[in-house]
Amino acid sequence: KQQLRLDKFLANMGIGTRTEVKQYIRKGLVSINNETVKKADCKVNTETDTVCYNNQVVSYVNYEYYILNKPAGVISATEDKKDTTVIDLIKDKKRKDLFPVGRLDKDTEGLLIITNDGKLNHNLLSPKKHVKKVYYAKIDGCVTEEDRVKFKEGIILEDGYKCLPSDLKINVSDTLSEIELTLYEGKFHQVKRMFEAVDKKVMYLKRIQMGNLKIDKTLEIGQYRPLTEKELALLE
Ligand code: URA
Repeated sequence: KQQLRLDKFLANMGIGTRTEVKQYIRKGLVSINNETVKKADCKVNTETDTVCYNNQVVSYVNYEYYILNKPAGVISATEDKKDTTVIDLIKDKKRKDLFPVGRLDKDTEGLLIITNDGKLNHNLLSPKKHVKKVYYAKIDGCVTEEDRVKFKEGIILEDGYKCLPSDLKINVSDTLSEIELTLYEGKFHQVKRMFEAVDKKVMYLKRIQMGNLKIDKTLEIGQYRPLTEKELALLE
């Protein structure tokens, strides 16, 4: 795993596209352990070799992990012609292969993990694992004890799908209710569709927890930071 082709190493670290870095190598701009190398396919040990491009050391980063407080108006995709994506928000990333772990709707805010670690992605999203996701929402209308019981038993969506039991906490209930909902699965537009199934509309939605990782309250909307080792351990 720590052995990698030189051109791949440089491309992964954002030095250029695969074609560009091959040219740089051919031109003699790249060295391994202070020796100029001209072969794009020579192998680099990412832990023990020192690679330089233009006489600058390029250190290798295998995985990156960020926690983002997603703003509304930004889409959970890696690229888009029209809209800003959550990946566009990560300004100081090293890796070019980052993606969001799961999706939040364009108008949903809150906790989103950004990484290039496919295994972590699988562990958090696999339907078999039932990883917990907690949402805070404002609901138009009065959310009732009866709704809570229905959610606990498993709401049936408009397409006939029966949701897994979920935990609904009603914080205030008046003409606008504030709730917290804990889900153990992640279907398309799930929270919105669950409330539609009890004739109510989600006015505002924010994810506040994923697995054992809670949103960092000091992160403003749109801000991000690397996950700490401790936080990463909470997810694994
Ligand atoms: N449920 C939704 O309806 N939307 C989201 O963005 C996340 C969960």
